[in-house]
Amino acid sequence: MNFGDIFNTFRKSQPSPEEAPSHWIKCPECNSLMYYKEVENLYHVCPKCQYHMRIGQEVRIELLADEGTFIEFDKGLIPVDPLKFVDKKPYKKRVVEGEKKTGKKSSVVAGECTIDGMPTQLVVFDFKFMGGSLGSVEGEKIVRAAHRAIEKKHALIIVSASGGARMQESTFSLMQMSKTSAALKRVSENGLPFFSILTDPTMGGVSASFAMLGDIIIAEPGALIGFAGQRVIKQTIGTELPEGFQTAEFLLEHGFLDMVVKRENMKKTVADMLHFFDAGMENSDRRTYKAAGRRVDDFVEDDTSSAVL
Ligand SMILES: [Zn+2]
Repeated sequence: MNFGDIFNTFRKSQPSPEEAPSHWIKCPECNSLMYYKEVENLYHVCPKCQYHMRIGQEVRIELLADEGTFIEFDKGLIPVDPLKFVDKKPYKKRVVEGEKKTGKKSSVVAGECTIDGMPTQLVVFDFKFMGGSLGSVEGEKIVRAAHRAIEKKHALIIVSASGGARMQESTFSLMQMSKTSAALKRVSENGLPFFSILTDPTMGGVSASFAMLGDIIIAEPGALIGFAGQRVIKQTIGTELPEGFQTAEFLLEHGFLDMVVKRENMKKTVADMLHFFDAGMENSDRRTYKAAGRRVDDFVEDDTSSAVL
């Protein structure tokens, strides 16, 4: 190795400022200063106040999928700009910025993996890409994941982290609410389980469609979940909102969620449920999940499988 190679190796081992988090970070909730590595080892949860920090798609997939099993699909789908929309910046520029932040071309990463050995279609939102907003590409990726789940008899899991429908696509993004909901109905009709995991934040058109359609709906502690923002609601109805309004715990208490699960226990909980649903698998020719006591045979006559979504 000559001197140049040594120099190059050294240079490569130095992460860019964007890649490298600073050694010390501050908890947004309790303001404690913590060593980054310590927080990273604790699944990005504050050891002092248990605040669940936002994490990107990469870390989320790492936490849920069995090591090395995740295969991404539909990477090539990229948002177009049908309305030539410009707010403070052109939509196209925002997409490029999102790509720089996340390395992805949309706020959704969809793929296939195993979770504790169970084959699963996994869709993960990344809030860093345009606030995890739901546009045409995101909707299409969810629908394709649902179709793969049906075709392969897999469970479907969507991890939401989103501000809602993407303003820049206007009605096109609102259409994704019905498009994804229709696809999930077919997942259900095929007797396959769909788990919806809500993380901070799950708002707007996402919470008003697929995120709330899970057979099981799980949230992370402290996650903000709702449709409109608190200020808007307060101004509209003209009264004070109850304490803890729109938090995961509040929604659990009021029957909107099935459970609130700490990040460290999330994979185990999901895996247990996958095994639970799998216990109802049929023989190898017609393997399917039983959901809500239904079997695939109940739906054979009702053939909607060729419907275009
Ligand atoms: Zn804290």
